[in-house]
Amino acid sequence: MGTAAKTEILIAGAGAVGLLAGLSVARLGRRAIIVGRIETRRLARTVALFDGSIRLLQALDLWPRLAPHAAPLARMCIIDDTGSLFRTGPAFFEASEIGLDQFGWNLENADLIGELVREVQAHPNLTLIDGLLADVSFADDHVAATSEEGHAFEAQLLVAADGRHSLGRKAAQIDVREWTYPQIALTALLAHRRPHQNTSTEFHTRHGPFTLVPLPPKDGQNRSSLVWMMTPEEAERRKALTDADLANEIERQAQSMLGKITLLVGRGIFPMQGMTPDRFADHRILLMGEAAHVFPPIGAQGLNLGLRDIAHLSEIIEENISTDIGDATPTKAYDERRRNDVATRSWGIDLLNRSLLAPYLPVDFMRGAGLVGLSLLKPLRHFTMREGVTPQFGAPRIMRAARTRS
Ligand SMILES: Cc1cc2nc3c(=O)[nH]c(=O)nc-3n(C[C@H](O)[C@H](O)[C@H](O)COP(=O)(O)OP(=O)(O)OC[C@H]3O[C@@H](n4cnc5c(N)ncnc54)[C@H](O)[C@@H]3O)c2cc1C
Repeated sequence: MGTAAKTEILIAGAGAVGLLAGLSVARLGRRAIIVGRIETRRLARTVALFDGSIRLLQALDLWPRLAPHAAPLARMCIIDDTGSLFRTGPAFFEASEIGLDQFGWNLENADLIGELVREVQAHPNLTLIDGLLADVSFADDHVAATSEEGHAFEAQLLVAADGRHSLGRKAAQIDVREWTYPQIALTALLAHRRPHQNTSTEFHTRHGPFTLVPLPPKDGQNRSSLVWMMTPEEAERRKALTDADLANEIERQAQSMLGKITLLVGRGIFPMQGMTPDRFADHRILLMGEAAHVFPPIGAQGLNLGLRDIAHLSEIIEENISTDIGDATPTKAYDERRRNDVATRSWGIDLLNRSLLAPYLPVDFMRGAGLVGLSLLKPLRHFTMREGVTPQFGAPRIMRAARTRS
């Protein structure tokens, strides 16, 4: 092994969070090395990014490159398909009600990662290394790491964006609480006969949501992505179906609202889990993205929360211009700022998911009453919509919107 490559910030992980964290710190004049496996295969995965996240991407000057790959989400529709006694009619939410043209945008993960990799490779402050860290150790004034490929690194700070099984988090001996749900998410990209009208539709079923999210048209086809939560047994059965048979089942569950459906590029299968660490930072390390929070893909919050991790780091760097970015002041500030935001989102999603899975009348009643409340009470409705897409409470400055009136 040669001498260690020295940098200010070492980023473990080259997923969306690691790459964006790199671009974000580089914009502030910091130097960083990103080490991770670069995954640009076209898998059946998309990501919906809300208004606050788009503000961050605009501030990083990335949005002009990403927008052509994305479809706007101008309208959301929630349909209670649980068969409960307290079932309500469809609830519609329009972005225009809170003064926005759209709540957010949906794009394929492969397009997002592809564009971010190109940006990172072109940035003079960033080095991207395709590999995996094998060992991390912490000293008083630096963090040292080596990769499986035999490279050595030394930095002031490790940003652990290395996913749910984070090596950095384990090396820092940060404990986690983990749990599982009796659910699998099946993902697919779909072509369909009728246009989606930029509407994202979520059917709430007894096994979790069935969510159709708009994508931009391609090769003359209307396209959407699907995240369908189901039992492990149903996932096994559906995995074995032919494309035509699975497309028929999807069309039936979608109540034929998009007309005839055909499957595009493969399918994804994701077991549903949750994870929360007992702290978000420690001596010379910050946790970000799925190294810091894992929950089911309900309400499209995961990467949006990861982008808030990044925006908080940027804010802290701006506040600590001359300090060693890995010392106790910035890491403590990061831990404090991320605690409430992550806890509130994880708790809200867990509660909604469990309320769908629990076939108890009082739970059904509460969920039904919640949807009715959201449909009828304008201030509550607007507050919930704003907090969902452009959170104000605990949100980093760069992601906050100027307040509009209800
Ligand atoms: C079905 C589904 C749908 C979703 N939809 C949405 C959505 O619509 N909106 C939304 O906001 N979120 C959504 N999410 C959540 C979102 O996908 C995740 O929050 C996001 O991908 C996490 O990104 P990440 O970079 O933290 O982790 P990952 O993408 O897992 O990246 C981790 C990186 O770390 C690397 N790595 C691992 N070990 C090491 C090591 N030892 N050294 C170096 N690197 C390492 C990996 O190679 C990888 O590059 C969805 C999730 C699922 C499962």
